[in-house]
Amino acid sequence: GTVRELLQTEQPTWSFEFFPPKDDAGEAQLWTALRQLEQLRPSFVSVTYGAGGSTREGTVSMTERIATDTTMLPLAHLTAVDHSTAELRHVVSRLAAVGVRNLLALRGDPPGADPQAEWVAHPEGVRHAAELVELIKGIGDFCVGVAAFPERHPRSPDLEFDTDMFVAKCRAGADFAITQMFFRVEDYLRLRDRVAARGCDVPLIAGVMPVTNARQITRIVELSGQAFPTELADRFAELDGDTPEHKRAVRAYGVEVATDMCRRLVAEGVPGIHFITMNRSTATREVFQALARADALSGAARPPR
Ligand code: FAD
Repeated sequence: GTVRELLQTEQPTWSFEFFPPKDDAGEAQLWTALRQLEQLRPSFVSVTYGAGGSTREGTVSMTERIATDTTMLPLAHLTAVDHSTAELRHVVSRLAAVGVRNLLALRGDPPGADPQAEWVAHPEGVRHAAELVELIKGIGDFCVGVAAFPERHPRSPDLEFDTDMFVAKCRAGADFAITQMFFRVEDYLRLRDRVAARGCDVPLIAGVMPVTNARQITRIVELSGQAFPTELADRFAELDGDTPEHKRAVRAYGVEVATDMCRRLVAEGVPGIHFITMNRSTATREVFQALARADALSGAARPPR
């Protein structure tokens, strides 16, 4: 199956994102989460592509294991960072050889911790995600997704430029897009309107991350370059504290916020919702259960009894 087909038959699609673990403990935690979330029968699960080294191997081996050992459909992320086009072709063929037909084509960020570091393309590589889409489509019959940014990519001068570049990326052959996580439904809806106004109908799957601890918020802002609404940050800060009760209250609020967002997105006719799980299952399952109680779930994804 492909994500493209699922977007036509399951509305909305429900999907979960994981990252390749760095050690044995991480591996065990990941597989516990994957097995628990498998019971929710997601439309597909995605595996991110690391900044370099062993986690990149991890993307290939993890998607392979998902394809062969589970009932779930894998989507492999791929970035252009530090790869020549020959290397990119090689990674795509390896993924194809293990049965992966769905890829998320990303430019990636410059390696290293500095989020402001200048992006430099590999001398024999690609400069933008659009070129990676074309490269993958030229290799074979893949279903290819791209990234979208409700509040614009941090490097785009303004929303109009960002949307023009996004639409160009779709016209390069993308079948669907997944958004960066966002916390205001309005930002997603405005992106959808800007894209539609340009005559582009590529489905925009919404990226959602349930916040599970208050300290995560700073990191979210750093990593995504997206703003975190002040009123939400204030409420999380109020609930936060050192006791287990405080931690539970923060988690519960995080689940409530994510559930509310999903409900509104479903009501707005979103084609899919993609949960960033951080390789844990509890928060996502709680959101699912809350949605099931509100009867907002449709399609193949259903929580277990
Ligand atoms: P692009 O589409 O190339 O855009 C990057 C910037 O260049 C934008 O500002 C865009 O407007 C501009 N631009 C594009 N085309 C042109 C052009 N022709 N001329 C001038 N400017 C142009 N990173 C990882 O390392 N691994 C992952 O697994 C990963 N998964 C992600 C999943 C999702 C859903 C999202 C939203 C992001 C993910 N990222 C991941 C982060 C992503 O790699 C970065 O945000 C990166 O900086 C942008 O990637 P892109 O594919 O959107 O780039």
